[in-house]
Amino acid sequence: ESAVFARRDTKGKSKAGGIDYNSSEFEWSGALEAKLKEVFGHDSFRLCQEGICNASMDGRDVVAIMPTGGGKSLGYQLPALMVPGCSLVISPLLALISDQIMHLHEAGVDAVMLTGATSKEDSDRIYKRLQAMGSGPSVGPEIKLCYVTPEKIANSKKFLTALDRLYKAGKLARFVVDEAHCVSSQGHDFRPDYQKLSTLRERFPDVPILALSATCPAQVLWDLTKTLRMPKLTMASAADVDGTVLFSTSLYRKNLHYYVLPKPAGGNDSIMAMRDYILNNHRNDTGIVYCLTKKDCESVAESLTTLSEGQIKTGVYHADVPDTRKEMLHRQWREGRVKVVCATIAFGLGIDKGDVRFVIHHTLSKSLDGFYQESGRAGRDGKDADCVLYYRAQDATRIASLTYGERGGQEKALAMLAFACDVEECRKIQFANYFNKSSKLSFSSWATAEEDTLTRCGHCDNCTRPPETLEHLGVRGRVAAWQLLRVVEEAGQELTMAQLCDLARGLGGGSAKEKEPAAAAKGKGKGRGRGKEKAYVDVHEVAGGKVELSKEQTETLCVRLLVEGYLALSFSSTAYTTNVYLKQSKKTGRFTAFSREDIEAGKGPAFDCAFVKKTAKGRKSVAGAGPSSAKNANGTASPEKPKSTRGKRK
Ligand code: ADP
Ligand code: MG
Repeated sequence: ESAVFARRDTKGKSKAGGIDYNSSEFEWSGALEAKLKEVFGHDSFRLCQEGICNASMDGRDVVAIMPTGGGKSLGYQLPALMVPGCSLVISPLLALISDQIMHLHEAGVDAVMLTGATSKEDSDRIYKRLQAMGSGPSVGPEIKLCYVTPEKIANSKKFLTALDRLYKAGKLARFVVDEAHCVSSQGHDFRPDYQKLSTLRERFPDVPILALSATCPAQVLWDLTKTLRMPKLTMASAADVDGTVLFSTSLYRKNLHYYVLPKPAGGNDSIMAMRDYILNNHRNDTGIVYCLTKKDCESVAESLTTLSEGQIKTGVYHADVPDTRKEMLHRQWREGRVKVVCATIAFGLGIDKGDVRFVIHHTLSKSLDGFYQESGRAGRDGKDADCVLYYRAQDATRIASLTYGERGGQEKALAMLAFACDVEECRKIQFANYFNKSSKLSFSSWATAEEDTLTRCGHCDNCTRPPETLEHLGVRGRVAAWQLLRVVEEAGQELTMAQLCDLARGLGGGSAKEKEPAAAAKGKGKGRGRGKEKAYVDVHEVAGGKVELSKEQTETLCVRLLVEGYLALSFSSTAYTTNVYLKQSKKTGRFTAFSREDIEAGKGPAFDCAFVKKTAKGRKSVAGAGPSSAKNANGTASPEKPKSTRGKRK
């Protein structure tokens, strides 16, 4: 029934001698498109789908990086139906697998899954069918797609033996590694069982591998090709005959509207801000609130329900929620009985709900990759959706302490902070700069066309913010920065951010000791500065006077100094907590080598700090000044009508 196609076709060869997999001139091209319509009901290919199918049909190793919702699954499902044998799909999560199986069965595709949740009966039947396929000419229809979790490969001898037989009979068409970034400990979803997938190539050297992911910085990409034993990467448009064919599309999704909103200091105030935001902008919409800890999930969900008097129907999802409850939540969420899931990042892989209209981050993510991935769970249906990050400077030390000890953790946290505290640059351009820099590979870029990368999106918070709501501190900010750095130099001990701000604002001195515990130990009660003696500096002596800024502004300034490298982080760990301190960096002297008069006269490094002005109505209205009002302010980007104006970069 499935036509058997020859492996390589000369028509696809490009002039350079490589093969152009993006062309539609392969011998199977017509049949591929017909099957796309017939089985999946799609009129045309999206993004790199056709190229991925071509390279797969050609028996190549493939890495495909496409945004969440881009349609990666089709890249293996369609070819699987065109060639003899069974494609084995390794996917990290049960929920993800069940969902795919359901869709495939609806389309009439013979797909099965073997997971911990498969009944003995079902698995016996599946093994029997696999065995039949592995013993000569098949009797009955072939299993075209078999889904497993990585544990099956890592732990099941029985399963590997079944694969051996398929392999010997030439019926193992392909290995598909979905969410392939889980292979890398550098990624944000590392799964140790994924590393055991190295067996695949060792045991079945001739079976091509397809690795799929939505975010893949260079390091992760490198890790995954190495672990999966895939050969060197080659570009899809002019592919070498022996490399791994790499496909990547722009990661930019223009239906997502990014906003960073101020997070009020008190716990309750911040939930009230979120409640107002949800009720004003997404009253009956489906959404996710990402929280940093399991405890946060519970308390945020409870407070949102209480403070909205039950108008916001919340659910909770994190690693400690029992499996049966997780499944129930998934169901309630799909059915709309739960609207807003308060979750840790454990909730994500495998969400196949297209109509998530908003994703809120209650606290910063630990990295910008993570933030991109998590916020990207919004708007998978391609319609407009909001991605909102609630940010306050104090959260900086919180994520810093969580990333302590992780390789590269600090750098990642700083990139997240830089994004959060930037009130001017277009969010799209910030992502572009980050992904282009962190990938260091031109082909794994945020946006494919350079021109597009440099065009402001026109609809994020920073693009829609009226200029008059921004306050540039200018010389005042430079002087304050210089003062903060002088205090750090003269303090004689490392300071928490709260201590530094207090000292610089002339509030520290003798009372620093009482102030310490709350700031240093997050309520654990045992926090102490690194030195036993209290921090004391005479701000008049060392910095020519107090910093004349509000507490919040001073904290924001600290974060800016940290992000730009004028301050550095240091940590001290106790059994209970990791305390975070600010200390001098190699760059501190670039500021403090100058006198205060020099700084005032415009000498020294370039540094400007801008703030969003508070409205006269006070804190409540600031918190409520969310996306809707930002959009209304210039009327270019309402949630229903995507923007038409794409402003050029200033
Ligand atoms: P990913 O794995 O990249 O996040 P999926 O493979 O789950 O994305 O696909 C997301 C959605 O896009 C699915 O609902 C799928 O049916 C749809 N889709 C995939 N390819 C096409 C296409 N060529 N045309 C229209 N819709 C498509
Ligand atoms: Mg997917």
